[in-house]
Amino acid sequence: MNYLSTRGHPDRKRFCEILLEGLAPDGGLYLPEQYPQVDTATLAKWRALPYAELAFEILSLYIDDIPAADLKAICAKTYTADVFGTDEIVPLRELEDGVYLEALSNGPTLAFKDMAMQLLGNLFEYELARRGSELNILGATSGDTGSAAEYAMRGKKGVRVFMTSPDGRMSPFQQAQMFSLQDANIHNIAITGVFDDCQDIVKAVSNDLAFKRKYRIGTVNSINWARLLAQVVYYFAGYFQATASNDKPVSFTVPSGNFGNVCAGHVARMMGLPIRTLVVATNENDVLDEFFRTGVYRVRVAADTHETSSPSMDISKASNFERFVFDLVGRDAARLRQLFVDDLGLNGSFDLSADPAFAQAAGRFGFRSGRSTHADRLATIRDTDKRFATLVDPHTADGLKAAREQLEPGVPMVVLETALPIKFAATLVEALGEEPARPKKFEGIEALPKRVVKLPADAEAVKAYIAENCD
Ligand SMILES: *Cc1c(COP(=O)(O)O)cnc(C)c1O
Repeated sequence: MNYLSTRGHPDRKRFCEILLEGLAPDGGLYLPEQYPQVDTATLAKWRALPYAELAFEILSLYIDDIPAADLKAICAKTYTADVFGTDEIVPLRELEDGVYLEALSNGPTLAFKDMAMQLLGNLFEYELARRGSELNILGATSGDTGSAAEYAMRGKKGVRVFMTSPDGRMSPFQQAQMFSLQDANIHNIAITGVFDDCQDIVKAVSNDLAFKRKYRIGTVNSINWARLLAQVVYYFAGYFQATASNDKPVSFTVPSGNFGNVCAGHVARMMGLPIRTLVVATNENDVLDEFFRTGVYRVRVAADTHETSSPSMDISKASNFERFVFDLVGRDAARLRQLFVDDLGLNGSFDLSADPAFAQAAGRFGFRSGRSTHADRLATIRDTDKRFATLVDPHTADGLKAAREQLEPGVPMVVLETALPIKFAATLVEALGEEPARPKKFEGIEALPKRVVKLPADAEAVKAYIAENCD
């Protein structure tokens, strides 16, 4: 399998070459040259497989530069009941007639990002050992991504993590999750500033090419193809649990921010999984909902990006969206460049409303969208608790709200549960008047010793810290 750039760069790459890379050299995103097709016989065979074996089968279609036995071992080591809490790994439960919740957040940090990040940790360790190389992951986080990356990379050989976060601005639970890690290869850096300062620092360090090369700086952000690929697996697993045979369509609703999660659903659908509809659910930061309603993609400025009670979806632009638009415009790289380089660069928006391709987003590609407000999420949390005695987090509540608007008789609707309620306890208290129960392993973590350094919002200070801690 070869990978190309959405922006038309002539080079073709193999999986392990793009594993440790971010963007393609022309600023595009990597995609496979074609989507492998899965026929009914294969679906029938896969239906009975345990999660780790299903992951191996799907990954093998995209990864041909890791020996099969090694890839199989990596999948088996990643997707265990020990790490994810159940043998099913992503258990499905019916909430009400035709509406299901697929649990993706029973991994180490209680959010769906563990599903991909845990695999990435093992793939990185494997590939770095094979190359005799090292990687220093530099990141910025306001919550879920940073902790998922740290729990995936802790104790991994050849990898160090330097994770910046805005000092004092994460929830006490999120801080405790990250700062209580005592592993020598995990470095928490609290920046006196806001999340944007952290992102600016990461950009400044990455733009210093000499420093970047010398210290082998890399990232684990959501545009990484391996992360997306790992997420394809749970669409298959959800489908098999929601149906008894492979001729039944199923719809999915996905609480969305950077379009990574739902883009994996798009890939699964392109492979031939009988997905009827993919519902993109957004919060007040509705750049994606606006596109699917109107055909206009309008990136927001910082002042127009709201801080909401579903903070992991508070985005100004959706970094994986370019992958889908590439397919939407018939994989025409020149057209894609016009939209994402020329139009976005010049106007901060592009308009496909008059382009025949736009009708295909709903038609051929099965996309719908919806949005929720804070009040909608509180109402959904209350209603779900009252009618089904089930607690959902605000991101999942957003998904449930959008899902109910798109139900079709006879088509199961699977809502992806992207985090556990305990991660967003303040909103649960606002909705229900009490804190959600906490999984045992997280009891009292706020009291554990913390490993974190505080630095000013200054890229030079962060560089000096990285240099000091790299030998
Ligand atoms: C990251 C995240 C999302 C958004 O996922 P994308 O892949 O960025 O669309 C939704 N919910 C939770 C809890 C998350 O952590």
